[in-house]
Amino acid sequence: MKMEYVISSWDIPSLPIVGSNARFPVRRIFCVGRNYVEHQKEMGGDGREQPFFFTKSSHDLVPEGGAVRFPPMTANYHWETEMVAVVGTGGYKIPAAKANEHIWGYAVGLDMTRRDLQQVGKDKGRPWTFGKDFDQAAPVGPITPASKSGHPKKGKLWLKVNGEFRQNSDIDQMIWNVPEQIAFLTQYYTLEAGDLIMTGTPAGVGAAKPGDELLAGIEGLGELRVKILPPR
Ligand code: MN
Repeated sequence: MKMEYVISSWDIPSLPIVGSNARFPVRRIFCVGRNYVEHQKEMGGDGREQPFFFTKSSHDLVPEGGAVRFPPMTANYHWETEMVAVVGTGGYKIPAAKANEHIWGYAVGLDMTRRDLQQVGKDKGRPWTFGKDFDQAAPVGPITPASKSGHPKKGKLWLKVNGEFRQNSDIDQMIWNVPEQIAFLTQYYTLEAGDLIMTGTPAGVGAAKPGDELLAGIEGLGELRVKILPPR
């Protein structure tokens, strides 16, 4: 029986899949903070802290990128290029050695950040919500199934802004690899099919401005293009 709602409902957030017309339905988005040594240092860390996570709403997704509006209430709107791990099978207390069995695929993503509002959260001990979870804060490219890509441990990750390299690293530079992130996260949460994990960004974060063209890529997982529109 079809559910009856009192207002009209909306489509489940979803992402396209490389080589398929079907889409992948998205549930939650978990994001790991400070997961590359050089980025941890540029953010003021010492390169050796425990992993920690924050979340974005799946309604922040901008599937396949494209035009993204410069967001309100910020003067420091940052890019963070990240590999996205896509959960196909949920679980609780998943051991790292079994974690890859739960991953359906991978994608290129941008963890867009209102850095000034995130800083207010840090300074005042408040949540990062306004800094990290806002309209269009999660452009993510099409998912490459793990059946095609395998489970990448190594591969170049880059971001070009207006044709110039701004981030240029390798996913083998993660402090906590994807299986370790899943083992950690599932001590606290039951992961569910459809959850995404944004696995952290390397050094080179910086501020985007209206008119900028961002081109993010990961070896073997394709590219993600975003054009920043003027503020509303
Ligand atoms: Mn990030």
